[in-house]
Formats: sequence, structure tokens, C-alpha cells
Amino acid sequence: MFTPARSRPKFSLDQSHAAFAAACRVIPGGVNSPARAFGAVGGEPPFIDRAEGAYLYDIDGHQYIDYIGSWGPMILGHSHPKVRAAVSSALERGSSFGAPTMREIEIAEAVAASVPSIEMVRFVSSGTEAAMSAVRLARGATGRAKIIKMTGHYHGHVDALLVQAGSAATTLGTPNSPGVTPGTTADTLLCPFNDASAVADLFAQHSGQIAAVLLEPVAGNMGLVPPRPGYLELLRELTARQGTLLIFDEVMTGFRLALGGAQELYGVKPDVTVLGKIIGGGLPAAAYGASRSLMQQISPAGPIFQAGTLSGNPLAMAAGLATIEVLRQESPYERLDALSGRLADGFARAAKEANVPHVVQRVGSMLTLFFNGEPIHNYEDAKRSDTALFGRFFWEMLARGVYLPCSQFEAMFVSTAHTEADIDRTVAAAADSLDAIARSA
Ligand SMILES: *Cc1c(COP(=O)(O)O)cnc(C)c1O
Repeated sequence: MFTPARSRPKFSLDQSHAAFAAACRVIPGGVNSPARAFGAVGGEPPFIDRAEGAYLYDIDGHQYIDYIGSWGPMILGHSHPKVRAAVSSALERGSSFGAPTMREIEIAEAVAASVPSIEMVRFVSSGTEAAMSAVRLARGATGRAKIIKMTGHYHGHVDALLVQAGSAATTLGTPNSPGVTPGTTADTLLCPFNDASAVADLFAQHSGQIAAVLLEPVAGNMGLVPPRPGYLELLRELTARQGTLLIFDEVMTGFRLALGGAQELYGVKPDVTVLGKIIGGGLPAAAYGASRSLMQQISPAGPIFQAGTLSGNPLAMAAGLATIEVLRQESPYERLDALSGRLADGFARAAKEANVPHVVQRVGSMLTLFFNGEPIHNYEDAKRSDTALFGRFFWEMLARGVYLPCSQFEAMFVSTAHTEADIDRTVAAAADSLDAIARSA
């Protein structure tokens, strides 16, 4: 049974409202990345003042239990003492040199030791840049032009990959952005996720022309959608047979589902891996890595050009390395799984009691409560969810001090800073929120 619905707490965002108006005068839409504007749930975002552990604090004085974690990076929670100390001490030595440093070796060795498919790695500054570079590597190494991309999967705002992309592109209903020319996407072949025969058909139609199959091994940018059993293995087999490179975009799943990411969890080794988010420990860093023979083709070792002024930035490397070291020492994955399972079960219980069609999908510490009665296997399934209900639920939760991703099509993240008490408070808020929505219907 529900706890009796408390009257909804007083919740005002007056300071944030004023800040948003000021921001909108000088920044398009008031934000530097579209999802943050809350377009998918209606309304305006709170402006964040600071964060610590599992909590965010806005400029209006609210505390929230945070399930975004900066959209993935903050697996250790915010302002982790070891990460903070590493960044401060790096800062004392200067913030950027444009010259090689010792820490780049350390973090590259740590990444190669952690991620099964990686022998060598190149650091860049964003997931977008890493995905773009991985595709260039695949095309350069195979001498082929075409790539297969899954609908609803997001690989940053790379022109060639901004077709039927998830994340804010789904949310805004503008999967094809003006400014992305037909020419730049002409070699991008779209395929539904989790559909074995669709991939086989594309291979049959474009035999010998496909440089790479690029996907999120566990999709997180259309809400959380796991691969069907055997699907990743099948992609591995098909690509190997065709001389096509398999690229796992593990920007979200890397260091999150396991130290070695989804490829460790599912035991399927891609040719190229794209990393981001956690690898920068909350600072801007990302990377792509592969076997030595592939990576030796990247400049200056080889002919495939790729560069970056701030790549391997000392502050970002310090934050990333400190984060990876804590993960290697503490191996928190079982605990994260248990905490996230408790949250998923709680959401399912609350939705069931409220008689709301739902499915909770989860892999490790990534999960989505879909307002959809059927399991979600692909983008088409995901799009049939009740986004209006999600919007109402989102605001009821925010007013109760729970900060969820502001779209049905984004995954929630649990960090090592979350406690069982945080999870239980969140589940109680969910039950209370759904009850409030039912009463007002
Ligand atoms: C976030 C994300 C990206 C883009 O990373 P940015 O750092 O935002 O450019 C790419 N791929 C996946 C799977 C992501 O989740």
C-alpha cells in the first residue's frame, strides 16, 4: 500500500527562473547542451550551485538526490576526495602544456589494463570527438566508406552520426538536424537495434563496402535497452566474416557496467572502443582505443590524421586516472548492482501499486523506468512510451528532492555515493508522486 500522499512540498525555483531568463539572452536556449533545458518535460531547469556525494544543490536552496551524475561521469559521486585532491595537485603544476606528460602514460596503461579490446589508446576531449575519430580510423584502416548505425543510438553530434540519434536528438524530435547535409550521411546505413536479420540484410546489400558497425552495446540514449541474448556475439561474427570493424561506443558503459565496460560484462570484444564520461572523472576527456596494429595507423605513428590542442589535458587526466584507480581498488560493481536493483524493484513496485503501465529496464547501475507496458528492445518500442506521464512524474519527483534525467529517453545512473537510505527515499518519493498524479487525474 502507499504511504498516504503528503501534500506536495512547497517548491519554487524563483532564483533559477531569473537565471534562466538571463542565460537565454546570451546562450541559445539558456544552456550549453540541449538536454539540460528540460524541453522534454516542460518548464525550466534549476541552476546548480554545487554538488557533493549523491546530492546536487540548486541556487534556490534545494537539495536533490542526483540520478544523472553529470549524465554518467560521476560514478564515485560528486566531489570525491581523491579526485578533488588529484585535480588540485595537478593544477598547482599548470593547467595545460601542449606537450607530453607522465600521467598520460599512467592513464593509458590503466585503460589498456582495464578494457579487454584496448592495447593502445588516444585521448581526446569529448565523446563526440572520440566517436568521430573511431569512425575515421575504421574507414582509414579498411579503405571502405559505409558504416552501420543503430537507430536511437547516440554517438555525439558528429554530422555523419546525427541520423535517428537518441539522447536530446530524440527528445527534441529533430533526429535530422538542419546543417547536416545529405552528403555527409550518405554512407550511414541505419539499422534497428537488436534485429539480427536487419544487419544481415544490410551486409548482403552492401557486401564488401561496410567499414564498421557502430553501436552502444547497451543502449543508454533511448532509455536503457540491453542487447538481446546472442545479439552482440552475432554482430561480432558477422563483422569478422566481412572484414568490417566492430566499434563499441562505451562512452556511457565504459568503467560503469564493469571496469572493462559492456565488453567485459558480455564477453564480446569489439575491434575499436570509444570511451568518455567516466574516463574524464568529471572533466572533459574521452578516448578511443583498439589493437596495437589498428592504433599504429593513427598519426603521427601512421597516416590517419587526428589531433587536439587540449587532448590529454593534465587536469582531465588527473581526474580520470584518480577515478579509474578508485574503481580498480574498490571494485564497487557488485554493490552498485545491488543498490540499483533495489531502486529498480522499488520503482516497479510503486508503478504496479499505482496501476501504471511500466517496465523497468536495468543493466548494472544504469536503468530506466519506462511508462510503457511492453519490454523495450529498440527505438520504435521506446518511442511508444507515455512521455506526458513521464513529464509529470519528473516534476513530482523534483519537487520531492529527486533529480531524474529530464527525459523518458535517458538512463538513470547510480553512484557509489548513493546509500540504501537514498534509494528508499527515492522509492517512497516515486510512490508518492504516482499517487499524487492519480489523484489529480
Ligand atoms: C554522451 C555520449 C556521447 C557523446 O559524448 P560527449 O562527451 O557528450 O560528446 C557519445 N556516445 C555515447 C554512447 C554517449 O552516451
